[in-house]
Amino acid sequence: MHELALTGKMLSLVLSEAEKHQARKVTKIKISIGELSGVIEECVAYYFQVAARDTIAAGAELEFAKCRATLFCPNCGRKFAKKPRDFNCPVCGGLSRLTGEGRECFVESIEVE
Ligand SMILES: [Zn+2]
Repeated sequence: MHELALTGKMLSLVLSEAEKHQARKVTKIKISIGELSGVIEECVAYYFQVAARDTIAAGAELEFAKCRATLFCPNCGRKFAKKPRDFNCPVCGGLSRLTGEGRECFVESIEVE
């Protein structure tokens, strides 16, 4: 999929953040992956290793966090976590729609030294 381009973008973000903090080394990177983003952890981890090889982020530990998709019910105005194959509101039973959360994949935080 689009993991290669995505990983490149995340790496440059990590490196510019690290530079701002005058870091010598990036030790840990926390990445949030939306369950609807279609992004595969293993691919990101692999591309990251390759792309970061000659940078201060080489060998950084990657930690992935799954970001749940959420639904919004226009009928009663509630927001709730999406269950597989279920678009019905747990409160009023109305048909809900996706909020857009859970589609993204981004760097949540980094640790440097
Ligand atoms: Zn509802």
